[in-house]
Formats: sequence, C-alpha cells, structure tokens
Amino acid sequence: MSTPVEPLRLLLLADESEWAVHLRECLQPMGGSVVLLTAPNWAAVDSLFANDRQAVVLATPELQPAPGRCELPTILLLEQEPLTAPLGASDWLVLAQLTTDTLRRSLRHVRERGVLVATLQRLAEQDPLTGIANRQGFQALLTARLAENDGRGLALGHLDLDNFRHVNDALGHQGGDRLILQVVARLKHQLEASDQLARLGSDEFALLIDTRRDPNRAEWMAERITEALTEPYWIDGESLLLGCSLGIAHARAQAGADPLMWHAHIAMRQAKSSQGCTFHVFNERINRNARSLADLESELRRALRRDELELHYQPRLNLADGRIVGLEALVRWNHPERGLLAPSEFVPLAEQSGLIVPLGYWVISRALSDMQALRERGLAPLHMAVNLSFRQFQDSQLLATLSRLIVEHGVDARWLEFELTETAVMRRNELVRQTMDALGRLGVRFSLDDFGTGFSSFVHLNSLPITLLKVDRSFVGGMEQREENAKLVHAMINLAHNLNLEVVAEGVESEEQLALLRAFGCDQVQGFLVSRPLPVEALIEYLLQVPAPGLVQTL
Ligand code: C2E
Ligand code: MG
Ligand code: MG
Repeated sequence: MSTPVEPLRLLLLADESEWAVHLRECLQPMGGSVVLLTAPNWAAVDSLFANDRQAVVLATPELQPAPGRCELPTILLLEQEPLTAPLGASDWLVLAQLTTDTLRRSLRHVRERGVLVATLQRLAEQDPLTGIANRQGFQALLTARLAENDGRGLALGHLDLDNFRHVNDALGHQGGDRLILQVVARLKHQLEASDQLARLGSDEFALLIDTRRDPNRAEWMAERITEALTEPYWIDGESLLLGCSLGIAHARAQAGADPLMWHAHIAMRQAKSSQGCTFHVFNERINRNARSLADLESELRRALRRDELELHYQPRLNLADGRIVGLEALVRWNHPERGLLAPSEFVPLAEQSGLIVPLGYWVISRALSDMQALRERGLAPLHMAVNLSFRQFQDSQLLATLSRLIVEHGVDARWLEFELTETAVMRRNELVRQTMDALGRLGVRFSLDDFGTGFSSFVHLNSLPITLLKVDRSFVGGMEQREENAKLVHAMINLAHNLNLEVVAEGVESEEQLALLRAFGCDQVQGFLVSRPLPVEALIEYLLQVPAPGLVQTL
C-alpha cells in the first residue's frame, strides 16, 4: 500500500473573485495534488496555517501578509507585470498570463526556494567538513544549555591545535581536512551523550562537558583528551605528531555564555605557553593578573594611535573578460610582540568594546588614500570594498563622517563599496536601512558578505539596496568533493541572478572550483587562485602586471 501524498495547500487571499475563478481553472489539470482554500486575510488563518509545511500563500498586494508576519512562501497576484521584483514575495503571477503552466512553474520555483532556505539554515549552524556544530550553532546550543540548568553543572573546553597552519602547508588542504576528521573522531570517542562538540574555526574546537554527576569530570576529561590527541596521526602513510592546547572553564550560575567563552579562551592561551598537548583550567583568582579583555582593549587602542594597523588588498576578478574589477580591503594588526595578527584575532574584541568605530574609520580613510595612490600610479579605477560591522551603523556620526572622508580624499563615491554580513542587515533595523539609503544616494554600493552563513530569512534581500552577493568560502571550498556544496552554490548564484544581483564567489583556490563557477554563471571570483591579499606596494606591482596574457587564458 502506498502512503497517500499530502496535497499542496494554496491559501488564496484576494478580494476579487476573478482570481479564484481563474486559479480553479488552472488547477483542474493538476487533479487532487493541489487544493485551493480562500481566506479573507492572513490574520484570519494565521493560527491554522502558520506551521503548515505544505502551504503556499497567494495574495493580492492589498492583502499580502505584513513583512515578518508570515513564514509561508508567498506568491503575489498582480494585475500587471511589475517594474521591479515585489518586496517580501517569493514570486509573482500576472492575471493575464495565468495558465496551468505558469502556475505550476511558479509553485515549483517557490518550493525549490523553500528547500534551499531550509538547507541553508541547517548548514548555517553546521561545519561542512565534520558535520558537527560550527561557531554559530554552538553559540545557540551553549545559550540553551546554560539556560536549562541556570548555568550550573557545565564546563566549557576551548581546544586549539598547535601549528595547524604548517600541517596545511605541508600536506595540502585535503591532508589538513583528513587530520581534522581524525581529531574529531578522537574527541567524539571521549565524549558522552550529554556532552557536545563544535568546530569554532579551522583548528579550534569547543567541548561542552556535563559535570552534573561529577564536579571533577571536566578535569579528568581534559587529561584523557590531551592524552588521546598526543598519539601520532596517520595521514597518507606518514605519521605526524600534533601539539594542542585546551582551556577549561567552569560555568557559574547566571554568568552567561560570553564570559564563559572568554574564560575558556584565556585558559587555552595559558596552556599555549607549554609545549605538547596540555590543558589549563581557568582560575578566577589567578586571572585577575592575567591579560584581561581590558588590557587587550587598551593595547588595541594604542595600536590605533601608533599606526600599528595595516590594510591588505585582495583583488576580485571578473570572469567575463578576465579583468580585475575590484579590491577588498582587509585589516591586519602588526603587533610589536605577536607579529601580524589576522582580523579574527582582534575584530571581535573591537566589536565588543566599541573600538570598531574608530578602527573602522581608520580602515576607510586608509582605503580611500590608497585609492588615490593607485590613481596616481596611472591605474584604472577599481571598486574598493570595505567591511563594515553592524556596530558601526550604531554610530550616529557614520553618515557625516563618511561623507566628509569621501570629499577629503577626492574619491568618486561610486567606486566605494561596503560589505555587510547577513546578520548585520537582516536585523532589519530601521537605522541600518536609512543609513544604507543615504549612503546609496552618495553613490556608494553595498554587497552582502559571507552569504549562506547565519541568516534568518532572505525574503528581505530584495528590499535592501544591495547590488552584489558574496558566496561564503565555506561553500566554495569542497565544491569538488561534495556535490551538495556545488548544488548549493549553483542555487545561490541562480537566486542572486533572479534578484538582479551580481555574484562573487569567495575563497576560490583551485582551477576545478573556477571551472564549476564559470559553468554556473558566476560573475566574479576572489581567492588565493587569483591572489592572496597584498600590501599596497605589492598590489600596485601586481596590478601593473595583469591582465598578463597567461593569467587571462588560464583563468
Ligand atoms: P571576509 O570579508 O569574508 O574576507 C575574506 C577572508 O577570506 C579574508 O580573511 C581573506 O584573506 C580570506 N581568503 C580570501 N581568499 C581565500 C582563499 O582562497 N582561501 C582561504 N582559505 N581564505 C581566503 P581575513 O583577512 O582573515 O579576514 C577575515 C574576516 O575579518 C573578513 O572576512 C571580514 O569579515 C573581517 N574583516 C577584515 N577586515 C575588516 C575590517 O576592516 N573591518 C571589519 N569590520 N571586519 C574586517
Ligand atoms: Mg568581506
Ligand atoms: Mg566573506
């Protein structure tokens, strides 16, 4: 006996009966697979259908559910072809063109889109290589677990592999991936069902340890884990030893996730000072003297004053003509003792402390003056993309300061572009919107960075003044090995094109990835294959050489 397939429910919200009549006619050939239900408005049926996975709303513009009120895909019913894509709808149908075929196509489109959204949502919280939670997923998980027991009976481990970068250099990324998989397997072996494991970064992991039954469990687990990781690894027939540093912090009642993460991080840094696989348990008393958040903050403040920051630029290549069309400015901190630090080591701190505001202005003004420098060297103008944190929008002076900086540097604002992450723009904050609109009027463009990671809903995408979408490198990497990734990237590119956005693929490292992206119709690529981020002098050298004939042909 076959299980009956549930019919697709179409909820019609329309005043004129004309739509209902027309739709019924179109639905006839589809038989019982689709049913049409009518309702006076969304509010009337909200509670009945809000969680119905098999429902699609069809609404005329007057009755379209308010933004954020309806999770179901919505198809807008229009009298005439719209000039631009309507806001808040997954698709639209025009009365005069309504046929069984157009309806069928539209329904397929919104459902495929729904599957993409669901997959992206799942992937946004999961590390693609290992399948365990990523930083984002872990944060949600940690907050939930802390709330469950009022913060008691939990310990957090922060594990960092030593010199993983060298392993990657020596064995290649695939070898590095295999090593990570072995590390995860060893960690999983030590954990019980009520513990949890997550991958926070390329070589960083979080372990949530249940200590309800045994308050000392975290300590003896740390001992066993460091022991297990000390054993040699076998990669491609070679044995390899790896050092690691594990920091442990015990949760305190009502202290929240952030201090716990920070304490485990400090303990991990302390473990780093000894060789091999070691662990360190955070101790409140001792750590009064340790380098605190406040110390780091004042160091960063000093760095800004002493000009210890640098900008590197990564070129963006246009696939249609093989030319470099843009640059992304990426900040680095040339720390007097610790060397060149990546943004991941200080941008989060700068965001938390508010220092991102002055730091951000430093970045923008340096990028603008380097744009001038490129022009003076006789180079054709390029789009300059600068990363902007959500926090920078909360600065009431943003618009005024930016306008002033643009004028001061005598740069045409149309060449300036800001990269925003989904988490920033999807907060749907009115202030963000207004500032974006005002900057847009100056000619500045916006792109959506790290697309595919951590968004809530991208129905709002087409309501924002964005011209470009950057597919996150976690999807681009692994496209050759994992078909799912390739499919997703393809779907994201199509989605962007449907919304009239250009697409940049980030983190392109191999010719294979490039060939796939080309086949998918991607517009631009950025990544080590084209060039690593370069200091301005090296960038000028690079730009004076390209488009070298060889490069254009191979790319
Ligand atoms: P993002 O905006 O997604 O920048 C791209 C990152 O990918 C850069 O890392 C770049 O070096 C790296 N990358 C580029 N191509 C490849 C590749 O082929 N393979 C691999 N594995 N990586 C590649 P970076 O410089 O460490 O920057 C990390 C993040 O820090 C940036 O991610 C951005 O979100 C943030 N950031 C950088 N500069 C600033 C800034 O001035 N302000 C703010 N608010 N954030 C910044
Ligand atoms: Mg970026
Ligand atoms: Mg990015």
